[in-house]
Amino acid sequence: MAVLAGWPASQQAEKSLKWWDERVDFQAAFLQCLAKHVPNIYSSEMDPLLEKQEELVQVTIFYPLERCLFGEDPDICLEKLRQSGSSQLCGKVFKSGETTYSCRDCAIDPTCVLCIDCFQNSIHKNHRYKMHTSTGGGFCDCGDTEAWKAGPFCTKHEPGAASTTQENSECQLNEEVMAQARKVFPSVIQYIADMTIWKEEKELPPELMTREKTDNYYCVLFNDEHHSYDHVIYSLQRALGCEFGEAQLHTTAIDKEGRRVVKAGPYASCQEAKEEIKRHSENVSQRPLHVEVLHADVVAHQKFALRLGSWLNKLMSYSSDFRQIFCQICLKEEADYENPCFISMLMLWDAKLHKGARKVLHELIFSSFFMEMEYKKLFAMEFVKYYKLLQKEYISDDHERNISVTALSVQMFTVPTLARHLIEEQNVITTITETLLEVLPEYLDKNDKFNFQGYSQDKLGRVYAVICDLKYILISKPTVWTDRLKECFLEGFCSFLRILTCMQGMEEIKRQIGQHIEVDPDWEAAIAIQMQLKNILLMFQEWCACDEDLLLKAYKECHRAVMRCSTNSHSRAKTFFHLCGHTLEYRPYRVSVDSVSIHLPLSRTLAGLHVRLSKTGAISRLNEFVSPKEFQVELLIDYPLRCLALVAQVAADMWRRNGLSLISQVFYYQDVKCREEMYDKDIIMLQIGASLMDPNHFLLMMLQRYELADAFRKIMPTKDQDLIKQCNTLIEEMLQVLIYVVGERYVPGVSDVSKEDVVMREIIHLLCIEPMAHSAIAKSLPENENNETGLENVIDKVAVFKKPGVSGHGVYELKDECLKEFNMFFYHYTKTQHSKGPHFSQGTEKHSVNQYGRHLTIRKLLSMWALPPPPPPEFSPAFSNVVKIMNCDVMMHILRTILQRAVELETHLWTEAMIQMVLHLLSLGLLEEKQQLGKAPEEEVTFDFYHKASRMGSSALNAVNIVMLLEKLKGIPQLEAQKDMINWILQTFDTVKRLREKSSFSTVTTISRSEATKGDETQSTQDKDKAERKRKAEAARLHRQKIMAQMSALQKNFIETHKLLYENTQEAQGREDSIMEEESIPIAINHYRIALGPKRGPSVTEKEVLTCILCQEEQEVRLENTAMVLSACVQKSTALTQYRGKTLEDSDGMLDPLFMHPDLSCGTYTGSCGHVMHAACWQKYFEAIQLSFRQRLHVEQIFDLENGEYLCPLCKSLCNTVIPIVPLQTQKINSEDAEAIAQILSLARWLEIVMARISGYTANITKEEEPKNAPAVVSREKGDSALDFHSILSFGIQPLAKYSRSIKEMLVLFATTVYRVGLQVAPSESDPRIPVTTWSTCAFTIQCIENLLEDEGKPLLGALQNRQHSGLKALVQFAAAQRTTAPQSLIQKHLVRLLAVLLPDVKVEDTLSLLDIDMFHVLVGSVLAFPSLYWENAVDLQPSSISSSYNHLYLFHLVTMAHITQIILTSTTESSTAQSQDDSEEARTAEAFCKEVSQYTSGCFSQNTPGWHIWDCVKKGITPYLRCAALFFHYLLGVPPPEELLVVSDEGQLKALCSYLSLPTNLFLLYQEYWDTVNPLLQRWCADPAVLSYLNGKSIAIRYPRKRNNLIDLPEDYSCLLNQASQFRCPRSSDDEQKHPALCLFCGVMLCSQRACCQELVNGEELGACNFHALHCGAGVCMFLKIRECKVVLVESKTRGCFYPAPYLDEYGETDPGLKRGNPLHLCQERYRKLHLLWQQHCIIEEIARSQETNQIFFGFNWQML
Ligand SMILES: [Zn+2]
Ligand SMILES: [Zn+2]
Ligand SMILES: [Zn+2]
Ligand SMILES: [Zn+2]
Ligand SMILES: [Zn+2]
Ligand SMILES: [Zn+2]
Ligand SMILES: [Zn+2]
Repeated sequence: MAVLAGWPASQQAEKSLKWWDERVDFQAAFLQCLAKHVPNIYSSEMDPLLEKQEELVQVTIFYPLERCLFGEDPDICLEKLRQSGSSQLCGKVFKSGETTYSCRDCAIDPTCVLCIDCFQNSIHKNHRYKMHTSTGGGFCDCGDTEAWKAGPFCTKHEPGAASTTQENSECQLNEEVMAQARKVFPSVIQYIADMTIWKEEKELPPELMTREKTDNYYCVLFNDEHHSYDHVIYSLQRALGCEFGEAQLHTTAIDKEGRRVVKAGPYASCQEAKEEIKRHSENVSQRPLHVEVLHADVVAHQKFALRLGSWLNKLMSYSSDFRQIFCQICLKEEADYENPCFISMLMLWDAKLHKGARKVLHELIFSSFFMEMEYKKLFAMEFVKYYKLLQKEYISDDHERNISVTALSVQMFTVPTLARHLIEEQNVITTITETLLEVLPEYLDKNDKFNFQGYSQDKLGRVYAVICDLKYILISKPTVWTDRLKECFLEGFCSFLRILTCMQGMEEIKRQIGQHIEVDPDWEAAIAIQMQLKNILLMFQEWCACDEDLLLKAYKECHRAVMRCSTNSHSRAKTFFHLCGHTLEYRPYRVSVDSVSIHLPLSRTLAGLHVRLSKTGAISRLNEFVSPKEFQVELLIDYPLRCLALVAQVAADMWRRNGLSLISQVFYYQDVKCREEMYDKDIIMLQIGASLMDPNHFLLMMLQRYELADAFRKIMPTKDQDLIKQCNTLIEEMLQVLIYVVGERYVPGVSDVSKEDVVMREIIHLLCIEPMAHSAIAKSLPENENNETGLENVIDKVAVFKKPGVSGHGVYELKDECLKEFNMFFYHYTKTQHSKGPHFSQGTEKHSVNQYGRHLTIRKLLSMWALPPPPPPEFSPAFSNVVKIMNCDVMMHILRTILQRAVELETHLWTEAMIQMVLHLLSLGLLEEKQQLGKAPEEEVTFDFYHKASRMGSSALNAVNIVMLLEKLKGIPQLEAQKDMINWILQTFDTVKRLREKSSFSTVTTISRSEATKGDETQSTQDKDKAERKRKAEAARLHRQKIMAQMSALQKNFIETHKLLYENTQEAQGREDSIMEEESIPIAINHYRIALGPKRGPSVTEKEVLTCILCQEEQEVRLENTAMVLSACVQKSTALTQYRGKTLEDSDGMLDPLFMHPDLSCGTYTGSCGHVMHAACWQKYFEAIQLSFRQRLHVEQIFDLENGEYLCPLCKSLCNTVIPIVPLQTQKINSEDAEAIAQILSLARWLEIVMARISGYTANITKEEEPKNAPAVVSREKGDSALDFHSILSFGIQPLAKYSRSIKEMLVLFATTVYRVGLQVAPSESDPRIPVTTWSTCAFTIQCIENLLEDEGKPLLGALQNRQHSGLKALVQFAAAQRTTAPQSLIQKHLVRLLAVLLPDVKVEDTLSLLDIDMFHVLVGSVLAFPSLYWENAVDLQPSSISSSYNHLYLFHLVTMAHITQIILTSTTESSTAQSQDDSEEARTAEAFCKEVSQYTSGCFSQNTPGWHIWDCVKKGITPYLRCAALFFHYLLGVPPPEELLVVSDEGQLKALCSYLSLPTNLFLLYQEYWDTVNPLLQRWCADPAVLSYLNGKSIAIRYPRKRNNLIDLPEDYSCLLNQASQFRCPRSSDDEQKHPALCLFCGVMLCSQRACCQELVNGEELGACNFHALHCGAGVCMFLKIRECKVVLVESKTRGCFYPAPYLDEYGETDPGLKRGNPLHLCQERYRKLHLLWQQHCIIEEIARSQETNQIFFGFNWQML
């Protein structure tokens, strides 16, 4: 509420005075004011100056208005109000994409959520919370006591918290303000309402018409969901003739706001534009865009009305009084008017308003009504009053749900008291179901059943929203039931049954015979509705079960509804079916011929209610409500039975011509998403049937419906193999269902089990198959209405959690003791699960091969495979009769028939599976009888399974009893696997027989399976036992074979599906193998382990014979042979940068790469996967890929052929070039010669010689061509004149090595790639910078590897990965050889410039100061370039070994001294807090040296640090450089290093490095040794203006050792990151639209990714913020964390990238990409470390390439816009 400066307060006061005046009619004055100002303020709609507009509105309207409202300066008053705070509700409205939190422990239902602020300040932070991403529109429930079981307030909203204390009461609005508000609000609301729903295009209400009507019109375009972004842009461009950019601007605004002025002008021209737009849009998509021509003043007022709405919205947050007054006015109905109140009117208009207007209105509702419980209730009642209308409007609208007023339902319906009130007072359940009934008729067919063929997915999706409301209203069960509530609920339930009636039997299908169906019918809609309804059905049942009377009444209604649906189709005459002396009277019906439907929600609801009757005991009163005559159980079970028979027939392949649609339906029928209210209930219905029907009749009915009557009446005459197979499958399916009917009792109500028991059993059976991740288990269990599975409550009782490694996820393994619960005929097993069989934990596997443990383990395996079922829990009384079907005549007949057929070896009429099931049924029967005998006296147990089974059959076919049949079965070889089971059954027969005969075992109570087996075993006689054991051993062997085969099949399968993964890991393992090439070398004395100077040891090389990975031929690497090459990838890298984000511009193409800045901000890294090829083979390979890609029309953008990219043929790493393998030239020096030379070749002398050589060249060049920039060597006055141009040659030369042509070609090729990539320029073979880039990548790669080794804590040499070793070796040798392919004069020129840094006598223009150069790069460059000084008159010479060793030594010493000076100057000043240490020699020399330095810097370098500290700094600072140098010389010369460098040792390292590099351990002695020579150099280095400027604090420099780069620190708790993201604001745009913040893991900056606002134009290409950032931050390669998605993104070179799991795990060791599960996440350091290494090893590119290779199906993600 800023007041404009310079606007006299008196004038303001005067202006508002007249409103304040009681005598003035406020409304008139208000409107007059608006009429005057609004059109002026909003006059330039095409190109509004938003700030100006806002200023004017404040001054001319809001200030007076507020003044009028408060009667004093509004700023003061509002400030008071603001401080008082006024609500205990948070009420923050979520924008789409914001993170919301819910608590699984405390939230009443999952719709109760907290905003991030409240969550962070709440107790739920430490509970089992869930994070989710809002779709927009909801609001924070903090402070709502009804939403939370505990902790409803965060600390900020707690009553009595600082911000809401006593002040609150003090600061209530005074009466005057309230009176004023009552006066002001109505006019304001009236105006807002009038203008938002204003329909006239050209006119305004008369009160607002003040001036002459102008001919100013706007053409306004509205948003719709039908036209795509591109359509609109296209249409606008065409219709208005505007630029793409402008059209895009319009379109974005339309999408956001809902409408936009696209043209201004006189009426006629706007009208014309309108027609044009309509025409063009109609052309592209059949439907015209919605365009209106509105008068300018209308648009202005409408715009202002929304502004006024936001003003009110803000006002609401200040005071509860304001809210109440506002709500009262909004709800007020004019007594004499038909019109609804303001708020209802606005609601009813909602679907016609544009997006922007809706948003303002909804926010207003949130900030007023929803913040005051009493008014929320009143609002809810208005909402329900118009519910039908609103929903219908919404369904025909095309805007998304989150911007519809109907989406507010969740805010009201889920509040328990409100829901109850709405049910009681307004019958809301009925209202909702009736709405459904009214909108669904368009889907009804002639039988009044739904039919969704050809439905519109969008429309139906909108209908689901209504179904969702039903779920919301039911989500919390009432605790108190009033009569009124029961009455209304029952009415709602009956109304709901009408919907189910339309679904009962919908979408019937008929078996297709002969021809395949032409079009697969739509099935998704019906199944989707089933899924939507599943929990609603369960909730209805739960509600009913709350009250006995209610339950019975609901049952009665439901039963009636089922009957109504069942009878009308029965018109056929009844026939009869006889078997075993029993007769079934039935109506002919065949699933395979007549139509059948899997949709039976009525029957299943009835089954559900029945179970609940049984559970509560109310079933005893059922007769009062449904008479036995009416009940007709046969009819009830008929439809579910048909459905099960259909499933059996589908399994028997009888319906294959009906296509995939049916397969899918059957799948969902049994799938976890639907089965509770489909398959499971059908089984229950059969159990109800079995409990209430005569068991023989029940079974006859089963046989009839499975169309198996004939199969059990006589031997089937047919010889048709297909038919026999079909019939066998049907028998198997039916036996399975019979097993389920008698055996599956884990349903509360069917037996006395708890919900927990049920979940536990599900989990045990899942884990029996294989160990599973938490999320996988959760996905396999049904969710309740609160999306809970109950998993966590029981999992620890049955399973053990196994933590994950660095990849993969944690899993649960079943506890061994739970294996005994395993039932192989568990009814939720799919066919594949069933065939997989139980899982053996690793321990078990190991045991089975262990000699000693074998016996025990095999017993265990056996006991699992010879699987008698675990004893099921006892049926509850209502279901107790089910067991009778096991010992009835027809069952005995069925069992006997099957066994008989097996015994008679009629192989085609039985299967092993069938026998298994028969055995299972027999065991169930015996267990039942045994159990009953254990509980009651023998004579009372009527269940006589044993008796029936041992009775002879009546017919000839059944002339033997079952026990005898079993005995015979043991002899059948095909049934070897079942033998244990058969034995077990026979033994149990025995046991039961003895129990019946009251033998000594009559006291046995419940015996567990294993005990039973054991007990029975002991009874067998010794003899029998022996034979038995032998047989068992044999059986065990067979079993083991079978299991092993099964296992290996599984494993093979696994490997095949995860082939790539497998190969990769093997590959990775291979690479990890470190090399220890030195091991093979005979122990050389340390004396020879010196790389430089006269004491240099011999090079150790072996004959290198390599195998080409392409042609598999071997070849020795030799200079004269054709080239072998190493696949390689050259990339820019910022891995070592000390100055992240520094840009290297090469705008003029003249970037000088000779000197590397010590910040190492960007280098060129060369990596290799270490795979060798013939150069020729590689060339052929590369050409072949090029060809194949050119031929393919559709080219996947996996790699960039243009830039030489390819995948390594062996390991599929991304490569872009090859490095030639140049053999190392063995060099050995004669120590005597060397000693002799040492006498004369001092550093001073060596320098003189070098200078002479250089000046000699310069003279020559000057003579020849007079170059402008030739280096000038200041001739030395007192030099020995004998030192001439040629003296350098006198210390030993040799001819240049001759490389084969092929090697030379490859040298050029690789050098060109390095140059091209390193400088990002077009390739060239003759650019003078090529040698320089070669040296540079060599130096930089060594630095990277050194840094990585240190980081990983590995020794310098001896632990390199194979690929690093061979890559480095090739790279260094290449760099040495590359010189020979360039003109020597060029190399000399580079060398002189490098030396100029060190030597004062060489003067080159623009020589950089010591502080601006990385010394290691100088070392590598000068060492590699130095031989060019031996070039003589076009004769290529090179220094001899001895010469080289001196050259190396002196160059290295010079550079080292320069580097020490660097370190002294930059890194020793920081004072140390450590205690003074002993005064060592090093310390003393250090101190002395610093005094000198101090002198040369004219005192700028004031040294007062103690010597030991200086020495300490120098030691630390120089180590990385020395390590790099050791690596470099080792790979250059092949001299073995001292042992100390092969192991990790901080102590010995420096000493070993110094010894290897011929340095004194006290480095300062170096200066002493060369003092006369170095002194002048030192003076010059120190006196450099740049150095002095630094020492005076005018510039900064890099300190040594350079800091090691790490990925940024991430918080441990992921919600902290989400918190950060929620505070993120886009730097470019101020809108409140959802952002996709991405965190750069290199530098920690947060970016606005995937949004147009932050795109950048680079070289004419649009780049997303991340890609643009990557260019600077990581030289194109970068790593981001997309915070809302919880995914890491790797990007490279604009067009490539891949997702990578974020290093955050939930407590179950699983990642959560997309935050789909929303469990709390915590940082996994190991995984983060892995990402760090991925970066430092330069493997990001490789990872991207690999990921793109594996995910060939690419989802068209636009990486460029990231
Ligand atoms: Zn909140
Ligand atoms: Zn709060
Ligand atoms: Zn909680
Ligand atoms: Zn080859
Ligand atoms: Zn490879
Ligand atoms: Zn960055
Ligand atoms: Zn942005």
